[in-house]
Amino acid sequence: MGTKYPDKVFSKIVGTTFDNRQEKIVRAKEAGAAMLHLEREPENAYDPDAIGVWVELYSKEGGYETIQLGYISNSEYACADCGYIMPGRGKGAPSACSECDGTEFDRIGLATQLAQAMDSGISYTCKVLEYTGGDMKEDGTEKKNRGVNIFIEMLKITEPTYGV
Ligand SMILES: [Zn+2]
Repeated sequence: MGTKYPDKVFSKIVGTTFDNRQEKIVRAKEAGAAMLHLEREPENAYDPDAIGVWVELYSKEGGYETIQLGYISNSEYACADCGYIMPGRGKGAPSACSECDGTEFDRIGLATQLAQAMDSGISYTCKVLEYTGGDMKEDGTEKKNRGVNIFIEMLKITEPTYGV
């Protein structure tokens, strides 16, 4: 398990097909939303390393509302014996390494890495790179699910310098 936190990461939001998030992504795209917020969910029953991805949009009723577009990806595991990287299986680690049959795995998913950093007080910015999908088939239904490609960057606060 590495100790250095991620600095700059390209990724895409996962979990975008639940909770009407396809419609929410359309709203965010139409609003031209470019900045997203990352929100830790340590109480998440599915994954204590979960990080939600949220956007603030102007509401029809006036004011702003904050809506969730999905989550940070967190599916990768590394075999503790040979280091081979595999996707998770269901709610947890793979049952056995396909390279060496090892059964011990280290979680190395992006959300786990970012959660460790965020829980130690580091902040990240999250920008939209591209809204994807939504092309129409001839029958008027959507060809591909909508998604959001994102760029996550560690927020660095530099000391201001004052002229004398
Ligand atoms: Zn292995």
